[in-house]
Amino acid sequence: MKNKAKASLRLVHRKLLRWYETSGRPLPWRKTRNPYKILVSEIMLQQTQVSRVLQHYPRFIKKYPNFHSLSRVGVAEVLRAWRGLGYNNRAVRLLNLARTVDGLHEGILPRSIEHLRSLPGIGHYTAHAIACFAFGAKVPVVETNIGRVLARLFPSRQNVWETAGRILPPRRVFEWNQGLMDLGALICTPHLPDCGHCPLRDLCPTAHRVVRPAMKKRKEPGRNGIPNRIYRGKIIEVLRNRNGRGSIAAERLGSLIKPDFSVRDRIWLRGLLRSLEKDGLVRVGRWRGGVSVSFP
Ligand code: SF4
Repeated sequence: MKNKAKASLRLVHRKLLRWYETSGRPLPWRKTRNPYKILVSEIMLQQTQVSRVLQHYPRFIKKYPNFHSLSRVGVAEVLRAWRGLGYNNRAVRLLNLARTVDGLHEGILPRSIEHLRSLPGIGHYTAHAIACFAFGAKVPVVETNIGRVLARLFPSRQNVWETAGRILPPRRVFEWNQGLMDLGALICTPHLPDCGHCPLRDLCPTAHRVVRPAMKKRKEPGRNGIPNRIYRGKIIEVLRNRNGRGSIAAERLGSLIKPDFSVRDRIWLRGLLRSLEKDGLVRVGRWRGGVSVSFP
């Protein structure tokens, strides 16, 4: 890297870290270095907004303060504790992970990215996030917010992970990664970045020039205009509300999640149940000549 570029990067480091000191969000998972608590927050944040995770995270951590306590519960219980967070298969992933860590690693997460990645349910991003946020490793972390900020700050670079690795500051890597994340979440937002209030505006080649990307409408499989994802959540909610009353007939379940449920919906419902069973969220069995559904 040439001297001018190095000086400019030092300025980016200084400005972002200073901004993070005063404007970073005081999130509870940033006040701990406990690997379990950080892992739980990372899995919750994968598909749920921060504001919602904030409502549920403290209760979950209080109920299951470590891998051991979580590993001892069943799928039904962890799905009840996950209520309100959505995308329930993450709860089962977390449970399987807790069982593996408790059983094979004495409840202690390994420190290296390689070992972290060998655990079930830990991918490239999560391994880097745990290594940096829990163990203080000087490694890049790239999620959606950071990816967007880096793409705007360094538009000529192609590989965002490689860019993130090259521009790490020599110190305070934890704050740097969290700061980039907050900048993307609060200022350098997808559709309307607030460049006027950005601490990096004087150094950013795309400041005030971001073209609002066209909104792409995602086509999701569903029924009557409602995505299957919503029906999956409704099925889990019905089972949660049964408070241990065992299995429920598929036909009854169908009418509870879709008031106009009819014989024409049977094959569609079977498909939904199969996908939930594959994800370890429900058990599908036989009952009085029909199909019954319960938590595993
Ligand atoms: S100046 Fe604008 S585009 Fe550049 S990083 Fe800041 S908010 Fe994003």
